[in-house]
Amino acid sequence: VTAPVDAEAAALAALDADALAHDAAAVLRVPSITGDERAVLELLAESAARLGLDADLHRHDLDALRRHPAHPGEEVERTELWGLTATLRGGAPGRICVNGHIDVVGPGSEPWTHGPWSGVIEDGVLHGRGAVDMKAAVVAALHGVAAVQAAGEADRAPTVVVQAVASEEDGGVGTVAELERDGAFDAALIVEPTGFAVVCAQAGALTFKGTVRGRSAHAAIRLEGCSAIDRYLAIHAALAEHERRVNAEVEHPLMRALELPYPLLVGRIAGGTWSSQVPDHLEFEGRLGVPVGEDPARARAALEAVVAAALDDGEPPAQIQWTGGSFASAETAPDHPWIELVTQAVGDELGRPAAPRGVPWGADMRHFTARGIPCTMVGTRGVELAHAVDERVQVSELVSVARIVARVVLRAAREG
Ligand SMILES: [Zn+2]
Repeated sequence: VTAPVDAEAAALAALDADALAHDAAAVLRVPSITGDERAVLELLAESAARLGLDADLHRHDLDALRRHPAHPGEEVERTELWGLTATLRGGAPGRICVNGHIDVVGPGSEPWTHGPWSGVIEDGVLHGRGAVDMKAAVVAALHGVAAVQAAGEADRAPTVVVQAVASEEDGGVGTVAELERDGAFDAALIVEPTGFAVVCAQAGALTFKGTVRGRSAHAAIRLEGCSAIDRYLAIHAALAEHERRVNAEVEHPLMRALELPYPLLVGRIAGGTWSSQVPDHLEFEGRLGVPVGEDPARARAALEAVVAAALDDGEPPAQIQWTGGSFASAETAPDHPWIELVTQAVGDELGRPAAPRGVPWGADMRHFTARGIPCTMVGTRGVELAHAVDERVQVSELVSVARIVARVVLRAAREG
């Protein structure tokens, strides 16, 4: 009988870094833009089975999910939703989940050095959409769990389910579906890119669309009309003031450490028809950050009140619609035993202390915490490349993610 520390060393020794890099590159060559993820899941199912995990590729009941109260919203056209679980049946008590999404955003309109679906590895760097966010990390998680099995240490591990999910980028119905199917977990780890920080607080995010009405008139007699653009300017200023106010009152210690915990951005404006006509219509679309612990309904109401108050000109009020993904905030206490376990494992892997952190972006963490499952996120650096041209990741960091997963799995059993 080996001691637990030896079990961890054996698992780390059994990790096949070359195979991990090869599998990650292969996965990046299969496009998986949100809404069209089946092909990459089929490839991942093959990889998981080859690694000796119990791979289960399944189609979810999308119609039922869309009627479900936990349905988080969707932004892209979708006719089917697939998911993959890869399970290590451990001999120790407990069940933990390692989650990652395999949908990616589009390549954008700028050219890539190697092409968005190249999967090229050059000088130890893996290139392609999903290298950081986050198909490659899902492969790393599979290899990390498989290493425990390859080392003959599965008896020392709890049961581990790797969830490869779709539709994170537009709300997270993939993770909701997976947890509806099997939500019996003691803890969860999401391998999103965090720069190896242990993320245990996450802002929410809500997207909205506003419509401002005006009255058209010829430019030469513009006083006869009412400009929707002029009216919007008051809204824009009020939204900026709202952002300032929300961020001036941040109490959460991990969130207040961020430069701007809860951004409020208007990302698109369209108004008017032509140069010589007073514009009678303007649309604006934006994203509202939701403070950790705040009910999204309250955040929506506050923004609507700000917009209403900004227009006190006697003209019709602006209309606000809440569109697309709805990301509530999420939080697991930094002193929760699961967070401490993961923080220790990350620190041991890095050779320096790891720290808990809050992040201003939304992800699937909330679907776990909403069910009372403690959840944290740890992954590679490079989040600034996540939706950018030339997305890429150090292969050595993917190996570190796999090693962290293996360490966490074996320690989770030890801690009981
Ligand atoms: Zn992501």
